[in-house]
Amino acid sequence: MTEKRKKWLDAVEEFRKNVNAVVECPNCSDGLLSITDVAFDELDFKKGGERILKCDKCDKCEVVLYRKPPPNWYSKNSKEN
Ligand SMILES: [Zn+2]
Repeated sequence: MTEKRKKWLDAVEEFRKNVNAVVECPNCSDGLLSITDVAFDELDFKKGGERILKCDKCDKCEVVLYRKPPPNWYSKNSKEN
């Protein structure tokens, strides 16, 4: 596993624990990552979906598939909408 790959996995883990985690971008080490949760089915978001981690500087993305989403799954979406 490359160092960069490991950092992305660490970032995924940080956000699994805390949706507001402050995580440096593993790609450019300059920007910060933010997440967007996209449910397979918006009406039943507990079924899971994709969590997209995206850098605000270089726009690099990492997509994680959650079939059994973490407790904080979708919590950002409900706050913002
Ligand atoms: Zn970046």
